[in-house]
Amino acid sequence: MLFFGNKKTGNRVTPPPRPRHQKPVASLKTVRRHQKQEEKRIRELEKGLKDHRLGLYLHIPFCKSKCAYCDFYSLPGHEVRMDAYLKALCANLTEMESSVQARTVDTVYIGGGTPSFFGEKRLKTLLNTIHKTFQLAKDCEFTMECNPESVTPKLIKTVRKGGVNRISLGMQSAQNDELKAVGRPHTFDQVQSAVAAIRKAGIKNLSLDLIYGLPEQSDEDWKHSVEAALALAPEHLSLYALTLEEGTPLWKRRNLVPMADDDALADRYLWAVQRLKEAGLEQYEISNFARPGWESRHNLKYWRGQEYIGFGPSAHSDFGGCRYSYVSDLEEYIDGMVSGTPIVAESEQIPQKERAREYLIFRLRTTEGIDSEEYRHRFRMDFAPLRAKLEEYEAHGWAVRTSPADAASEQGSGEQWHFTPEGFLLSNQLIGGLLEIQESEMVRHSASALREHSSPPKE
Ligand code: SF4
Repeated sequence: MLFFGNKKTGNRVTPPPRPRHQKPVASLKTVRRHQKQEEKRIRELEKGLKDHRLGLYLHIPFCKSKCAYCDFYSLPGHEVRMDAYLKALCANLTEMESSVQARTVDTVYIGGGTPSFFGEKRLKTLLNTIHKTFQLAKDCEFTMECNPESVTPKLIKTVRKGGVNRISLGMQSAQNDELKAVGRPHTFDQVQSAVAAIRKAGIKNLSLDLIYGLPEQSDEDWKHSVEAALALAPEHLSLYALTLEEGTPLWKRRNLVPMADDDALADRYLWAVQRLKEAGLEQYEISNFARPGWESRHNLKYWRGQEYIGFGPSAHSDFGGCRYSYVSDLEEYIDGMVSGTPIVAESEQIPQKERAREYLIFRLRTTEGIDSEEYRHRFRMDFAPLRAKLEEYEAHGWAVRTSPADAASEQGSGEQWHFTPEGFLLSNQLIGGLLEIQESEMVRHSASALREHSSPPKE
């Protein structure tokens, strides 16, 4: 006898009559065929997920001292909390293990703060935990940020052994007085020693950071720093304009320090773009230059809108369609990992409309730029209004169009557009102009969709 209803109480219900045209029960053969198809689909899905690679960012918030211009989440004088932080960070990594099991990690970036200040033993433990927890691709790009004064041959050998194959070194300037003026705790001699140790340890991928517009820096000083950096033969260079961030010590004494004006900054930038090109370092993003093939694959993930997971206080993630960040507070983060209290400060699902905005904002930072077909395909929007604006920019020498044959884009096969170095200097205004057009297109689409939806059905 069949029972329908609550099995516990056993209230008997008459079975419903069998519909006249009910399909016959599937044969065993059919069930097996469906099962096989389903297994195949799951295998393909898993393969797709594996191919869809992931980046990891780990934040080490400790620094020897605070630089005068810095507004990153970094803490001088907190060495006493390093062990507790290591425990919390490793616990955070392992708790994510099950969520990313099917994914291959192809970039890891340990940033800060000053990761090289975290100490050799702690770094060794951290690197072991990363290897134990995640499935790293054979060709994983594994970057660690270092400051010259905390690089020792032993530390670099240890991290090299632990899988680090790319070092990003905070050189900033070749002039000791400029370094001192912004509170950098190192000299140019220490930069040279650090580079020697990095190369000796067998690290082939070296990136140097430089800052233009440092207090009292002349054009000649800047050129000298660029030449000194080139003499160290890095595979990658990042050039940043000094920005006065509110609340920093430099911002507080902004009226007392002689600073370069916008024209001088633009000249220094354009000179460097040209000089680096001659030296074989191609510009691939507003502030980034590399020998072909040595571009930062991790940072490209941010600009391409690809997925990454961040760990540590203030770290951001873009994973599974959700963007979230952790609290910018070391103690809250450690407490959260110890006692299970929340450590997420903000989280949001990113709607397609926002992704379309970000596509313009981030991709136009790069020389890969935007692709008309990819844009149409991903966001179902017409590219023509954007093209008209880009043609205006092209006439001013701010943007260039490359044919599909000229440019290697990851996806799409339409026309590609990117900014020139002169355009990068104005990128905020130029991207703003494109966003306005995109916004009015979105409004127009929504209005016509609404009209279609509410119009009476045709007779
Ligand atoms: S070393 Fe880097 S993170 Fe630390 S204070 Fe200086 S700029 Fe900030």
